[in-house]
Amino acid sequence: MAGTLFVVATPIGNLGDMVPRGIDILQTVDLIAAEDTRRSSQLLKQFNILTELISYHDHSSLGRIEQVVAVLERGDNVALISDAGTPLISDPGYRLVRRALDIGCTVSPVPGPCAAMAALSVAGLPSDRFVFEGFLPSRAGQRQKALMALAKEPRTLIFYEAPHRIQDTVADLCEIFGDDREAVLARELTKTYETIIAGPLADLYAQINSDANQQRGEIVLIVHGFSGAVLSDEDAEQERVLKILLVDLSVKQAANLAARITGGSKNKLYQQALMLSQTR
Ligand code: SAM
Repeated sequence: MAGTLFVVATPIGNLGDMVPRGIDILQTVDLIAAEDTRRSSQLLKQFNILTELISYHDHSSLGRIEQVVAVLERGDNVALISDAGTPLISDPGYRLVRRALDIGCTVSPVPGPCAAMAALSVAGLPSDRFVFEGFLPSRAGQRQKALMALAKEPRTLIFYEAPHRIQDTVADLCEIFGDDREAVLARELTKTYETIIAGPLADLYAQINSDANQQRGEIVLIVHGFSGAVLSDEDAEQERVLKILLVDLSVKQAANLAARITGGSKNKLYQQALMLSQTR
């Protein structure tokens, strides 16, 4: 019978968060597959874990994956860990878990720390429904495109972000989601300099801009979901046209012209133009 692959969470900063069952399993399995053996050996030393370590990441050669699979196939147990937190959550492990399931192994979780869940649990933003987006693209154009696709997402959004990109990302969020959207920056959770700041995106941006410390360490960014009405394609097109026309024309002129361009109702467009002109 094939062995079990245990997916074991490890601390995201504070070693006191290592769960006892995790220690027990890491001590008793036959092999530990770790993202970075050098980093993990420090953690294992702390807990007197002497189990053999092997490096594993999702770009590992097929040979390396098969090496781990062979251990499972002969009935031995393996634990998978990443550098910090829960494996597979913006971390390696997917290919190994998939392969282990395909060969009929039991894959069993040992839950524990996860930066996204830790941040969400203290953010004070709706947590009944949320989406985990992981890291946004690092290139500005691609990041902005990804954010545009998320601008009307009604669920709370969770992002991981690198400290050197946080300023640009929050600037893009202000631009695309609007300055007033509520958000939370959760930094260095469970560590000495744990900081959680909450407020409208524009306030967060001002704090990040004026305090270089807010651009350091490990960061989870949580953003309130879109709470306005979602427009139909037709309404969205009419609004787009109106917004362009209102730059140079009066409300009445913009509404008349928009009605001719989009085929929409003059009356409805007049009301819409009036509302847009008041919120500008
Ligand atoms: N698997 C991990 C987990 O369960 O959270 C995440 C790994 S991902 C490669 C690393 C990112 O997680 C960091 O860049 C940061 O965005 C977030 N992160 C990890 N530890 C954190 C902490 N202590 N405080 C805030 N964010 C953290």
